Amino acid sequence: MVAGGSKKRPDSGLESGVTGGGKEAKQHDHQFHGQPPPAELLDSESEEIELSTSEGEDSSWVSWFCGLRGNELLCKVDEDYIKDDFNLCGLQGQVPYYDYALDMILDNDSFSGEINGEELVEVEHAAELLYGLIHARFILTIKGLNSMHVKYKRADFGRCPRVFCTGQPCLPVGISDSPRNGLVKVFCPKCEDLYLPRCKYQSDMDGAYVGTTFPHLYLMTFPSIKPAKPAQCHVPRVFGFKLHKNSSR
Ligand SMILES: [Zn+2]
Repeated sequence: MVAGGSKKRPDSGLESGVTGGGKEAKQHDHQFHGQPPPAELLDSESEEIELSTSEGEDSSWVSWFCGLRGNELLCKVDEDYIKDDFNLCGLQGQVPYYDYALDMILDNDSFSGEINGEELVEVEHAAELLYGLIHARFILTIKGLNSMHVKYKRADFGRCPRVFCTGQPCLPVGISDSPRNGLVKVFCPKCEDLYLPRCKYQSDMDGAYVGTTFPHLYLMTFPSIKPAKPAQCHVPRVFGFKLHKNSSR
């Protein structure tokens, strides 16, 4: 898919979006090193404070990218996580200009004299794809789950449009772990159904940047967050009478 073509980093003059790659993503089978994360994680009060005080000063590519309109569904991936080759295992074959894209994400512009302008645009697109695939892995780690917890508590992912869910905050989810196999959706933990993001900019994002596992692992990790199922559902009536189940046939 191609994300919003209007995304442009002021200092690079490059458009952003997802292009080529053309290869299927592999399943993320390494995140837990064979073990699920512990059931109880640290609450993120201190992290929330730290985020709010540092956002104004951070001019990194990651901060810029996460601050773009439509990228509210993404959290900032720790630089240390991106720098650990183990965490990126298998991504090299899925992302064109992999080394350049990684350099761009890590604000290492040493490649700038080696490629032409057209290639730079491709690298920018590749950097978005690479960051998205790294993000899908990161949010399944303890740190990533905590970062998304902060965003969930702020309802950054939007709220369920269903009336009887009474504004329940949603969680992002992909319908595939492979890029270009579907755009991102939001999952309501109350009615347990999927919806299109209400912001059209958000709905342009590739679902593989979040993946299929995240909301369900999140709710297993923070069981107290999971709301009770809605007590009410809509009952169709005509002139006050309930409809017979075969009445519309
Ligand atoms: Zn709902």
